[in-house]
Amino acid sequence: MNTQEHIRLAEEYGAHNYAPLEVVIEQASGVWVTDVDGKRYIDMLSCYSALNFGHNHPRLVQALKDQLDRVAVTSRAFYNDQYGPFCRELAEFCRMEMVLPMNSGAEAVETAVKTARKWGYDVKGVEKNKAEIICFTNNFHGRTTTIISFSTDPFSTTGFGPYTPGFKIAQYGDINDVKSKITPNTVAILIEPIQGEAGIIVPPSGFLRQIREMCTQNNVLLLMDEIQTGLGRTGRKFACEYEDVKPDMFILGKALGGGLLPVSAVVSTRDILKVMTPGVHGSTFGGMPLSCAVARTALKILHDESLVDRAQEMGAYFMTQLQGLKSPAVKEIRGKGLLIGVELKPEAGVAKKYCKKLKELGVLCKDTHEQTMRFAPPLTITKSEIDTGMEAIRKVLTS
Ligand SMILES: *Cc1c(COP(=O)(O)O)cnc(C)c1O
Repeated sequence: MNTQEHIRLAEEYGAHNYAPLEVVIEQASGVWVTDVDGKRYIDMLSCYSALNFGHNHPRLVQALKDQLDRVAVTSRAFYNDQYGPFCRELAEFCRMEMVLPMNSGAEAVETAVKTARKWGYDVKGVEKNKAEIICFTNNFHGRTTTIISFSTDPFSTTGFGPYTPGFKIAQYGDINDVKSKITPNTVAILIEPIQGEAGIIVPPSGFLRQIREMCTQNNVLLLMDEIQTGLGRTGRKFACEYEDVKPDMFILGKALGGGLLPVSAVVSTRDILKVMTPGVHGSTFGGMPLSCAVARTALKILHDESLVDRAQEMGAYFMTQLQGLKSPAVKEIRGKGLLIGVELKPEAGVAKKYCKKLKELGVLCKDTHEQTMRFAPPLTITKSEIDTGMEAIRKVLTS
């Protein structure tokens, strides 16, 4: 089948909850994907950062195959020989003490919300059903009914009520607004260190540190959603390291599964995660040997290939190249490491138009929030691959 036939099938039989670019991918390797007509593209979206290691990294594929030959799924009704080592390695990677594994990012966010509430009742002593969690304008934490209950995006919320109570919204970047939202019932602040889906919004410098101090002073947990920003994407292991902030909980997903499997986790201290006792929370597939083996290998590759430093170095190079375009269409270029947003001026037209043109020239990226193009290639990208991508980007943004 050719591209148009595949698209027709997808549109006829698949729900229309996405608006994909018209490219049908058949295979991929590293930063490159090939469509059903044999055309090659550089992937500058990386599955929203799940592909930090590129497509089908040989070591990850090997780890998955090796584990498949042994055992894939056990459930947590039993122990498995990948689970303990995975928990220890991920906890140490995060300089934390304990791990609670799930599968999708949204499930890990739900786990963090539930853990924070339970901690609020069991440890902080908040009155039953009164716990409050502070979230931020333009947040993105996933798609479940509870998570969209604290979304401020009408597309995410309209038609999906009634909403889960217990959440307050503060202005992202405004510390006084956060302060005004804290009450004795506040159990947690849930935040993205850089807002990815909102358009790569970097908070004012010092904001995360002020949030950390406020949490400590008020006995409030800091839940850091690093699902998109974590594991090297921004040129640090975690984006919150730019402000020397240590949260009470990391929420991880996307790249943790090595771009092969959905693997997510909440990583925290023993004091906090001890509120989760047998039977109160779980996941059929969370912590399965296949996921653990792949995630362990992902963490090893991050180290062995110095991908955190590479993201920093290649991100700086990419950013300089983009700034050098001096494109009249561009309003602002922002981001850290290899998480880069290019916001277009309103008169230049919507970002989607530019993404479509880039696709024609062999570069895949996606618009976010109308006016912003997101560039987030695999951390394994080379300078010459960035140069190849830049040729197309230059044509599209300066002609
Ligand atoms: C993608 C994302 C999620 C949700 O992850 P899913 O695996 O799609 O459920 C949550 N938070 C952030 C910051 C994300 O980027």
